[in-house]
Amino acid sequence: MKVAIGGAGIAGLAAAAFFARAGHEVSVYDKAPKPAPVGSGLIIQPTGQAALAALGLLDNLVKCGARLERLDGRLECGRKVLDVRYDALGLDIFGLSIHRSALFDCLHDAAREAGVSFFYGQEVAGAEIVGEVMRLGFADGAFSPPAALAVDALGLRTPFVERENCYLDYGALWANVPFPSAGGFSKHALSQRYRSANVSAGVMPIGRLRDSDEHLAAFFWTMRPSNYETFLMTPLPRWKEQVLKLWPEAAQVLDQITSHEDFVLARYAHHTAPEPVEGRVVHIGDAWHAASPQLGQGANMALLDAWALSNALQRHEDADAALSAFAKMRGRHVWLYQTISRLFTPVYQSDSKLLPALRDKLAEPLSGFWFMPKLLAAMVSGTLGGPLKA
Ligand SMILES: Cc1cc2nc3c(=O)[nH]c(=O)nc-3n(C[C@H](O)[C@H](O)[C@H](O)COP(=O)(O)OP(=O)(O)OC[C@H]3O[C@@H](n4cnc5c(N)ncnc54)[C@H](O)[C@@H]3O)c2cc1C
Repeated sequence: MKVAIGGAGIAGLAAAAFFARAGHEVSVYDKAPKPAPVGSGLIIQPTGQAALAALGLLDNLVKCGARLERLDGRLECGRKVLDVRYDALGLDIFGLSIHRSALFDCLHDAAREAGVSFFYGQEVAGAEIVGEVMRLGFADGAFSPPAALAVDALGLRTPFVERENCYLDYGALWANVPFPSAGGFSKHALSQRYRSANVSAGVMPIGRLRDSDEHLAAFFWTMRPSNYETFLMTPLPRWKEQVLKLWPEAAQVLDQITSHEDFVLARYAHHTAPEPVEGRVVHIGDAWHAASPQLGQGANMALLDAWALSNALQRHEDADAALSAFAKMRGRHVWLYQTISRLFTPVYQSDSKLLPALRDKLAEPLSGFWFMPKLLAAMVSGTLGGPLKA
């Protein structure tokens, strides 16, 4: 089958690699002038690891990523309010925290080696049906060659899905730094500090780049995107004072940050497209379901979508039957995680006083229930609700 994929992000690259390996003829179109990962670091959860293992890519990524054993969130006084331990699900279960470009390079190479054709500098603006086939339409008025299936992996701002005002009030500044040797940070834990729900920071180990031995960490600082201009005008030492007040142990991390430009501002959004499949256009990844990275699921959901779509196409000769099998396979899991994310985001990123107060009061007593460690680990691992259950 000829498949046209819009978007060479995590979803598009994974789908391209899966499809090409299954023998489909795949073309990928991206508006970026050349291949480039966007962003800092991310956690590949056990669900995403399973998809990468199916592509034979997991072992190499494990070599350059950091093996996360726990997520540790504390108030400024040091009291724990988030304690997720992957080993509650089994000793061999972990989160794989990696530099975004490590994942991107690995998926891009796999797709190229499988015979995928890439077309950069092509902004997708829509699609048209000509008889039985689809053509992607580009911003310059040109069209792609005909394909039996168009995959929308264009991320949150896809032109195929109407979205109004889906941005959340909070986003974050992200910067990559050498992994700190001082401050007591663990290479196996994502550490966070909170004050209420609108001031927080985190240090996440992200392993190393493919051709380097230096271990890195991602540092993030919660911020309203509307305050970004003010941040740019605030002298860096003054901003650092605010962070150090929350988290004195982060001093060495902050020493590595020497300019406002070391940061990328990430805007968070929440939205689910009404339908994952519209005729012969299928939405995957953030184009279908975008959420705040609080639960660390977005890239994993993108990998699962690509894997499920490829499975469905292998199992059904008829493309329409394959697309409805795909929607069924992923629909419930997407709904569940979008709902959980919607509920949790204001507890960690909002101006609410009540929700973080409840969080801080209830976290410890709730964690005493016997089922909580397993439930929390399953939620973060992405395995609740059967990720590929039809
Ligand atoms: C700061 C931050 C931290 C995160 N941390 C995690 C984490 O720890 N774990 C996790 O699982 N997820 C995390 N996520 C979420 C994750 O990054 C996304 O869910 C994931 O990147 C979605 O992949 P995608 O391929 O669907 O979309 P994208 O990665 O957004 O890719 C879309 C691609 O389409 C291209 N494109 C867009 N529009 C057009 C157009 N009109 N024409 C042509 N090309 C176009 C873009 O150039 C891009 O290459 C995080 C997100 C952020 C912002």
